[in-house]
Amino acid sequence: MIKTVDEILTQDIYSREDIVSLLQTNKEDRNKIFTHASKIKADYVGKKVYYRGLVEMSNACSKNCYYCGIRMDNKNADRYDISDDEILDAVRFAHQSNYGSVVLQAGEISSPKFTKRISNLLKQIKEISNHELGITISLGEQPEEVYQEWFENGAHRYLLRIESSNPDLYYKLHPKDQKHNFETRLECLRSLQSVGYQTGTGVMVGLPFQTYDDLANDLFFMKDFDIDMCGMGPYIEHIDTPLYEHRNLLMPIEDRFTLTLKMISLLRIIMKDINIAAATALQAIDPIGREKAIKVGANIIMPNVTPGMYRDSYKLYENKPCTDEEAEDCTNCMEMRIGLTGDDIGYGEWGDSKHFLKRKK
Ligand code: SAH
Ligand code: SF4
Repeated sequence: MIKTVDEILTQDIYSREDIVSLLQTNKEDRNKIFTHASKIKADYVGKKVYYRGLVEMSNACSKNCYYCGIRMDNKNADRYDISDDEILDAVRFAHQSNYGSVVLQAGEISSPKFTKRISNLLKQIKEISNHELGITISLGEQPEEVYQEWFENGAHRYLLRIESSNPDLYYKLHPKDQKHNFETRLECLRSLQSVGYQTGTGVMVGLPFQTYDDLANDLFFMKDFDIDMCGMGPYIEHIDTPLYEHRNLLMPIEDRFTLTLKMISLLRIIMKDINIAAATALQAIDPIGREKAIKVGANIIMPNVTPGMYRDSYKLYENKPCTDEEAEDCTNCMEMRIGLTGDDIGYGEWGDSKHFLKRKK
């Protein structure tokens, strides 16, 4: 017997078949999922959005992920590496704007010099903010000792997307070599958890070769892994990447957008108290894409505080929004947008994952 969406939504536990059928819903049914997720968000984490000022430190990268515009072999990428002073200026801006946290993100570089540089930056961020700013980092795969060192120097959340929890699909998105090993990625996620980070992962949605089953399994993967935070965004093709060749397999971009919203809602329903970010890639498709994600279950936004002159070069995908703006412009614009969702902004608060706090008890 085929279950209706209403029937599935009353269940406490969903099967893979349930999730797949929810992912395939039409407009009317999909709104039921969104409404349900929105209620769960209000009940479990509250109608409050936390800001994390995002600094895209550098687009130098030693890897060659097939989907990413700043992969090492893309000769058309205009490489930059923001100076520590400029990074700290951006951090000061976030602090003065009363954002509770910052995120440092970059391409993947692994070296003693880089490790040290990040450690110093972390210490300085704590210092210049009187230890008020929370710090998330997203700096790729690193040895556990490095994760440990950065944790001791003040980072307490880490974002490392699994990209896809299906190893076969993972290897369609990455070269099959030592540098892009699925098992290593999993190991890194485990290390982050054991060091004590609030651990965030996520996937891209609407990838070529990706099935509804894959997406359902991604949701179960995150639940089984007991993650604390998630960042999930639509895949957006980039012309200077190998995966562009398979663009004929993609669903229309609007559908990738809607499917991402469904994934966010379903994750909120099955993992009620985690933090879920409204990914910037949503805004690349719809000017109010992130606000729509907030409405259906997300509770974190990462306003870009990278100095304007570098933004255009951190191009993971095409059509990245607000690359011609400065951080100040973003703040005003953001406040107005969040106001439209009916949520409050958690100014000056870290907004830690409630799930993590419970897990630790
Ligand atoms: N180098 C680090 C962090 C920067 S990349 C890392 O890889 O973990 C951050 C995220 O950008 C990746 O996890 C990936 O999911 C996303 N990304 C890269 N290329 C993308 C694309 N073409 N479309 C959508 N998201 C993309
Ligand atoms: Fe480098 Fe991250 Fe892009 Fe992969 S996804 S190429 S590691 S920046």
